Amino acid sequence: MTRSERRYLERSLLEERASKLGVLAKMDERIELEAPGPVAEEAVAVPQVAEIEHTREDLDYVLAEKEAQLLEQINAALRKLYQQPEWFGVCEHCGSAIPFERLALVPWARLCMSCESKAGGHA
Ligand SMILES: [Zn+2]
Repeated sequence: MTRSERRYLERSLLEERASKLGVLAKMDERIELEAPGPVAEEAVAVPQVAEIEHTREDLDYVLAEKEAQLLEQINAALRKLYQQPEWFGVCEHCGSAIPFERLALVPWARLCMSCESKAGGHA
């Protein structure tokens, strides 16, 4: 991997990280706003509305969890990039270099394509 390729990936990791943090912060706000407060009379009288609200909140949690997992992978990739740059972009399973085209799409990839598909991953 060339210096400029590494810089490029570092930048996209940092950008992804910032955007995930933004999304998560927004979700936190929304989840807090929607958290059950004092229940209004109408809400009790119309159970369908409460159900819809509940489903949407669950979806937020699922999304937030997904984003948080991705954020963790991004952080791990950045840690590796800074602390063990010689291992960045190297498949953790077979030790071969992960093609730059793959890293450009998934800068936090830890496995090469063939190991990923063997592992039954979903990339
Ligand atoms: Zn591999």
